[in-house]
Amino acid sequence: MRRALITGITGQDGRYLAELLHSKNYEVFGLIKGQNNPRIELVQAELPFVELVSGDLQDLSSLVAALEQVQPDEVYNLGAISFVALSFKQAELTANVTGLGVLRLLEAIRMVGGSSGNPVRFYQASSSEMFGKVRESPQIESTAFYPRSPYGCAKVFGHDITVNYRDSYGLFACSGILFNHESPRRGIEFVTRKVTNAVARIKLGLQETLVLGDLEPRRDWGFAGDYVHAMWMMLQQDRPADYVVATGRTHSVRDFVDAAFRHVGLDDWERYLKQDARFFRPSEVDLLVGDATKARTELGWKPEVDFESLVAMMVDHDLKLEARKAGIRQP
Ligand code: GDP
Repeated sequence: MRRALITGITGQDGRYLAELLHSKNYEVFGLIKGQNNPRIELVQAELPFVELVSGDLQDLSSLVAALEQVQPDEVYNLGAISFVALSFKQAELTANVTGLGVLRLLEAIRMVGGSSGNPVRFYQASSSEMFGKVRESPQIESTAFYPRSPYGCAKVFGHDITVNYRDSYGLFACSGILFNHESPRRGIEFVTRKVTNAVARIKLGLQETLVLGDLEPRRDWGFAGDYVHAMWMMLQQDRPADYVVATGRTHSVRDFVDAAFRHVGLDDWERYLKQDARFFRPSEVDLLVGDATKARTELGWKPEVDFESLVAMMVDHDLKLEARKAGIRQP
């Protein structure tokens, strides 16, 4: 049985990846930080097959101990301060966890090595936010980075140090440059889930307005469940490399709002919408759109869930969730 260690196990991607690896007969370990982490219960209930190991991306010795305990064949670094808006308010913490955390994990891997002498294969969750003020469109693996947030800057460091450790020490280290990927498990602070949850609550009569920031930014939104397949595929190749993972199609925040309201039959949605300066960013990224040709041709990866199906899946999930919480019987 192969053994995989996932950082960020409580997050959206960690949970989808854990399910994928479990279905492939891996022993799955998840790094959990802090005392009384409130999300431990969620992971234990949803993913009872995952063995939780304590450790923190800010603490090298804890990572060394976790690796010694798990002896993994594959390590997936999905842990990060991942919310762009928060990264402007906690820039140093973001740099420490999202950026330096990668270096610490790579160092721990170098120090401990893999199970039964096999080298560890390492996946770094890089991000389209690294492209920021884009230098060319669509963006590919060799497109120059121009991050526009502390989060993006920290991810650039994480990407560069992954490539550097691969070049310098021959580590099997891959960086997946993933464009936005969403799901019913997305945190409510992200615009997609904020919208689908509000739309569900408005439809159920539990909420009157949806308050957003800028409606014009465009994103290349895919389904997280599809994207974790690409992570795994990268680590199964003969040689480590970096890959863009994207759908190649963009929609605006406005398009997302429109699709979500229409899905529940509320076509005149403008009357539910308010905008507030609180939700605008100090600086925005440009139009992010990825070209995943390399992942398609070399990995054989392709997205399965399109934009409309993704919106419908998220709204339907939130309708059920909010109805259950409010004790409303759904047809
Ligand atoms: P990001 O691409 O990682 O920053 O993902 P988000 O879901 O946080 O934001 C996507 C886009 O939606 C950004 O351009 C935001 O400025 C925009 N946006 C507009 N209103 C909101 C809002 O109320 N919350 C969030 N999170 N984003 C918003």
